[in-house]
Amino acid sequence: MGGKEQEFVKEAFDTNWVAPLGPNVDGLERDLVAYTNSKHAAALNSGTSAIHLSLIMLGVGPGDFVLCQSFTFSASANPIVYQGAIPVFIDSEKDTWNMSPEYLEQAILELIAKGQKPKAIIPVHLYGVPAKMGEIMAIASRFEIPVIEDAAEALGSSIDGKACGTFGQLGVLSFNGNKIITTSGGGALISESEEYINKARFLATQARDNAPHYQHSQIGYNYRMSNICAGIGRGQMLVLNDRVNQRRSNFEFYKKSFAPLEGISFVNELPGFNANRWLTCILVDPIKTGGKTREDIRISLEKENIECRPLWKPMHLQPIFENYPFYGDGTSEKLFEQGLCLPSGSNLSNDDLNRVAEAIGKVLK
Ligand SMILES: *Cc1c(COP(=O)(O)O)cnc(C)c1O
Repeated sequence: MGGKEQEFVKEAFDTNWVAPLGPNVDGLERDLVAYTNSKHAAALNSGTSAIHLSLIMLGVGPGDFVLCQSFTFSASANPIVYQGAIPVFIDSEKDTWNMSPEYLEQAILELIAKGQKPKAIIPVHLYGVPAKMGEIMAIASRFEIPVIEDAAEALGSSIDGKACGTFGQLGVLSFNGNKIITTSGGGALISESEEYINKARFLATQARDNAPHYQHSQIGYNYRMSNICAGIGRGQMLVLNDRVNQRRSNFEFYKKSFAPLEGISFVNELPGFNANRWLTCILVDPIKTGGKTREDIRISLEKENIECRPLWKPMHLQPIFENYPFYGDGTSEKLFEQGLCLPSGSNLSNDDLNRVAEAIGKVLK
C-alpha cells in the first residue's frame, strides 16, 4: 500500500458510503480516465467481469467464435466459454511474446472461409509488455472485428505514449491482489464509447430498468466495485507511477546482473513500446547454459526459500481448452518450457535482488 488508501476508506466509513457505488467509485473512474487518457471508465469487481461484460455487449453468444491469445492467464479465455462461445487460440510472436498478427490473420481468413466470422479478438499485454497493437488493430479493422484489449497486467504500459487498454474498442484492467496496483480484488473497463460504459454499468448492477419498482428486461450481473475497494484504488493510483518505476528498476537490475551469463534472455521493448515490467521474466536456453533448465533454476531457488514460477501455460495446452482450435507454430509452448518469472515485487530491497541474482549465478556457474 502507498499510505493514502486508508484515508479514502475512512472517508467511505465516515460518510456511510459502504455500497457498490459512491464517491470513491466515481473518483477511481475519473482517475483511470485521466491516467490512461481514455474517455470513459466503469469500475468493476474484477478484470474477468470486465471481459465477460465486453463479450456480452459485443453480442457474443452460443456457437460464436472468439479469437484469444493462447499465452495468457485463463481469465482471458474463461468468459468466452461462459457465453457458450468457442475460443480459437492464437500463438505468440517472438518479439513481445503476445498475439501473433500473422496467425491472427490466418485464423480470421480460414474462419471466414468456413462462414464462421469471429465476433471479437482478445489480445493480451502479458507481463505488462505491450502487444503489437498497430498490426493487430489494422487487421481487426480490415475485417471489422471488435477488439477487447486485455490490459489486466499492463496498467502503466504504453505504445508511443498511448496507454495500453486504449487501442481496442474495449480495454480491460485488473486490480487483483497480485497486479501492479490493487484494490484487494477489482477491475475496470475503459472505452472511448460512452454507450459501452453506460451499458456496462447497467449490466453490472443487475440490469435494472428505469422504473420506480424493480423491473428487468435483460439478464443482469452483480459486477460493480464496492466504494470501499475503490477507496483503496484511489490511494493506489497516487503511487502507480512509483510502482512502475520500481518494477522497471527490478528488470534493469536483473538484466545487468545476468548480462555475463550465457543462455539467459529477456523480452525486449520494441521502439516506442513502454512496459510496466509487472513481472521480470527470463528465458533459459539449456543449449547455452550447459544443460541447465528453468526447472533447475526454479528448484534450486526454492531450496533457498526464493519463489519463482514458470510462465503462463498456454491455453491451447490446458486440459480444459485443448480441444479448441489453435493457430500457431509452437512459440508460446517454447516460452512456457523455457520461461521463469523472477521475484518482482515493488518492495524488493537491493539485498533481496542480490540474493536472487547470486542464487541464479550459482546454478549457472
Ligand atoms: C489477472 C488477469 C485477468 C483477470 O483479472 P481479475 O481481476 O483477476 O479477474 C485477466 N487477464 C489477465 C492477463 C490477467 O493477468
